Amino acid sequence: MKKMRLKGGFILLLFTVLMSFSARAVGDETQLDSVQIVKDVEFVWKTSFTQKEKDRIENLLYSCAYQAQKSLGKYPFKLRFFCTKRNMNGPLGGCRAKFSGPEKGVHLGIDPRYSDSEFMRDWRTHHEISHLALPALGKRNRWFFEGFATYCSRQIMAEANLLSYAEVDSINKARVDAIREDFDQKGTFLEVIIYHQEHWNFSAYYWGGATYFLRADRILKKRYDTSMMEVLREYQLKERNDDRVLLDVIHSWDAIIGDAMFSRLMKEYRTVSAKTVMSRV
Ligand SMILES: [Zn+2]
Repeated sequence: MKKMRLKGGFILLLFTVLMSFSARAVGDETQLDSVQIVKDVEFVWKTSFTQKEKDRIENLLYSCAYQAQKSLGKYPFKLRFFCTKRNMNGPLGGCRAKFSGPEKGVHLGIDPRYSDSEFMRDWRTHHEISHLALPALGKRNRWFFEGFATYCSRQIMAEANLLSYAEVDSINKARVDAIREDFDQKGTFLEVIIYHQEHWNFSAYYWGGATYFLRADRILKKRYDTSMMEVLREYQLKERNDDRVLLDVIHSWDAIIGDAMFSRLMKEYRTVSAKTVMSRV
């Protein structure tokens, strides 16, 4: 009975979500099987939650899992949420993604005292789910995968109507403008962003990394009649399981669009000065 009630609640929620998306077309090839998404979500309760809290969090996270995979494509593995209850100054904290091992999945610190809408408007869950759209790329490439999750989380939220596209554009612009000075120094973009990464200058390397995806998305829309999200949906369906390193990912994305745009852009980030790259964002 319990299970029936939960599933019923979720189906109602899902219906609402689906209706809100009905105007946004997604290619047939990448159309999501919502039932499969629910089946492929698992919860691990690391600390004690009441049953009522669990029911509520499950519904919220089903919704996030659906929204994220609607944008990024269905992941070829079970999406596991590891939940820890904490008293915090916000609904979420201490969030991270693990790329491999028995605890592969999204780890969330959750404060159930906050409302559903506060939870849904927090970008962290979408950020951590986004990480799992890529394979583990190694610590040296943090700028790339943090930039990726930083960019994708807002795109997912816009596609899910949690933020407007105008809000996302203004967040992206403000955050990139705020780090311009950090890149006003000698060296290639890659050298400068690695410096910020090594000095834990989070906003510089998260948003510096996000510029790669901002620009790629812009180029894709202008010249290739596609988008970063569309490429990612294709990517989940095809190449990703064989990819091991950053260049594999870049080559897979090139193969999807049939041109070396992603490689050329990466070459620019590796070889052109930080100042020049930032002037093109
Ligand atoms: Zn992250």
